[in-house]
Amino acid sequence: MTQEQINQLKGLVRNVPDFPVPGVQFKDLTTLFKNAAAMRLLEQGLVELYRDKAITKVVGIESRGFIGGGVLAVRLGAGFVPVRKPGKLPAETVKMSYAKEYGKDTIEIHKDAITPDDVVVIHDDLLATGGTMLAAYQLVQSMKPKKVYINFICGLTFLNGRDVLPKDVEVTTLFDF
Ligand code: AMP
Repeated sequence: MTQEQINQLKGLVRNVPDFPVPGVQFKDLTTLFKNAAAMRLLEQGLVELYRDKAITKVVGIESRGFIGGGVLAVRLGAGFVPVRKPGKLPAETVKMSYAKEYGKDTIEIHKDAITPDDVVVIHDDLLATGGTMLAAYQLVQSMKPKKVYINFICGLTFLNGRDVLPKDVEVTTLFDF
């Protein structure tokens, strides 16, 4: 993707002040997702990053991580695995609790979702404090895959979320604020 295309995507993100709580500047990516040309660019950008990495599973974090994650899985010829909020997954799960930018949360993954043969990319829409992704990474790592990558559509650099993620893991974003 060219810098111009990246800027195009970035320019479509809507800033919503004081959502979901006062003081949080919420980056709303639905204004990017609803634009057909932007979805094409997003698909292209994500695929360019991971097409040569022999990815076998894309893990998407509920719920906005399901959008780019689903697109990426199909385009890479990989499977898709959801990480969900508690009580949503029907079969046996492993869970992890964590702190996030505005509160506490728990996430789950199916216990049989990842195998030691897998090369995984974990995807979410946005990196804020990194707490959600760190918890997802720990869940995925507990299943001992061959390799794990981490990807976001965008990152909020001023929250320093990259610093809480393991140093030895390759983390990418398409653009940052
Ligand atoms: P964190 O665990 O703090 O990195 O939070 C990441 C998760 O919360 C992602 O799934 C984001 O979609 C969401 N999130 C947190 N802060 C924001 C924000 N300022 N704007 C948009 N989404 C956010």
